[in-house]
Amino acid sequence: MGQRKIKHKHIVIVGAGTTGIMLANNLARSHHNVTVVDPAVIHYYQPGFLFVPFGMYHVRQLGKPLAKLLRRRVKHVRDVAVSVQPKAKTLQLETGEVLSYDVLVIATGTQTNPTKTEGLVGYGWRKTIHDYYTPDGAEVLRQKLNEFQGGNLVVQVMDVPIKCAVAPLEFVLLADEFFKKRQCRDKVKITYVTPMSSAFTQPIAAHKLNHILTDRSIEVVADFQTEKVDQTAQKVICYDGREVPYDLLVCIPRNVGAKYLEGTGLVNDEGFVKVNCRSLQSLAYPYIFAIGDAADIPMGKTGSVGHAEARTLGRNIKAYLAGRPVEETFDGHSNCFIECGAGRAMLLDFNYDTQPCEGTFPIAGVGPMKLLGPSRINHWAKLAFRWVYWHRLLSGRAIPFLPERMSMVGKRMPPELASVAAPKLASAEKTNKIDSNPNGNHNRASKDKTAKGGRKTP
Ligand SMILES: Cc1cc2nc3c(=O)[nH]c(=O)nc-3n(C[C@H](O)[C@H](O)[C@H](O)COP(=O)(O)OP(=O)(O)OC[C@H]3O[C@@H](n4cnc5c(N)ncnc54)[C@H](O)[C@@H]3O)c2cc1C
Repeated sequence: MGQRKIKHKHIVIVGAGTTGIMLANNLARSHHNVTVVDPAVIHYYQPGFLFVPFGMYHVRQLGKPLAKLLRRRVKHVRDVAVSVQPKAKTLQLETGEVLSYDVLVIATGTQTNPTKTEGLVGYGWRKTIHDYYTPDGAEVLRQKLNEFQGGNLVVQVMDVPIKCAVAPLEFVLLADEFFKKRQCRDKVKITYVTPMSSAFTQPIAAHKLNHILTDRSIEVVADFQTEKVDQTAQKVICYDGREVPYDLLVCIPRNVGAKYLEGTGLVNDEGFVKVNCRSLQSLAYPYIFAIGDAADIPMGKTGSVGHAEARTLGRNIKAYLAGRPVEETFDGHSNCFIECGAGRAMLLDFNYDTQPCEGTFPIAGVGPMKLLGPSRINHWAKLAFRWVYWHRLLSGRAIPFLPERMSMVGKRMPPELASVAAPKLASAEKTNKIDSNPNGNHNRASKDKTAKGGRKTP
């Protein structure tokens, strides 16, 4: 009896962060050989960084050894990718090693780069100007917030796209609670500065969030395309001449894609991989895919989107290697909590075509979670998600109640707004570019600056 010969192909995943780990563990269940490349020893649960400045977690509680998170069949190469040769199907590593692949997946996420905004780094960096998207930034800010006696606290999104566009909103809401508990809220003016047209770009969620922010006396300064930071005068300056003074500036520096992809034809101007947003396949090479924050899709850069992507992509890579067509079924499903302070959180469940709306999740009429309204159950679910992340999400398996594709069950969408997001997706699918999308993952700010004579920042 002749036995059918199984062909083992080589899948290389660059980046073993949230999505690289999920995808590698998912693909390790196939007969293919899976290699991940990442210099990291510790993997961090990044959503936890939000709570570090407020003393709710220490960074050391948020990390685990990467080696323990990968299935045994996954080979981990502890190295840095320095260049890709798409035509030769090779990946060059920092140590000189060259890896060949049948399929390459870009999962190197996005990095904050404060040097991209004029005046942001300098003598005030980590003294009067802070960030919390990095482990060390979050720890230093904890100390600073403890010492802060009063004045102008400005929380500013420097540019878009950013990862987890709701995290800065959560920061201002937690700051409100933090200073109330310390009985000095009346001495702190909290201002939220954003390049977007409001706190959130989708109408129903924006309305809700603006209401909450106004209620908490948090001022929103919108459409603020940052020209520079004047550290001497302690103010941020917009291209249109507006200025916002600060005593403590908490910023989300500009997010950029990976440098090693420059010049490969794979990425857009910001370094994010141009993909078909339904299949996650590169627009340039069929054997290259991207996942997570590294992919240029019209949806926010969050782990929850990455979780849904990992499942579609797992199937697509197996299909591609088997000579079958890839499926174009990824709907951009995002399911994210917004911590509102005072023990409550909001839940947003949406996708490319449907904006966040009110309702219950996951069971219609029952919940127990409430969509687009603060509740205690949502808050506990957000905190419990850390356990789900380590024990379920990273395994690459399906999570009950968190489907790959969004469901309309339990949602109450006003009919006049039902199709608001759809036209934007249509244009994204045509051009792989968008003008605006739910989480600010768009290029509007760059275009505005170009109209004023181009970026002045490096
Ligand atoms: C403060 C904060 C709050 C957040 N809150 C939420 C939330 O509530 N819900 C949610 O869903 N998401 C949230 N996120 C976003 C979420 O953490 C990210 O979207 C998710 O981690 C992205 O996964 P990724 O795999 O694309 O990138 P990452 O997890 O960032 O991993 C990228 C990996 O690539 C590696 N790498 C980079 N360059 C190279 C190279 N050249 N060679 C080899 N390896 C390389 C890095 O070492 C890293 O391990 C939050 C993020 C932050 C910072």
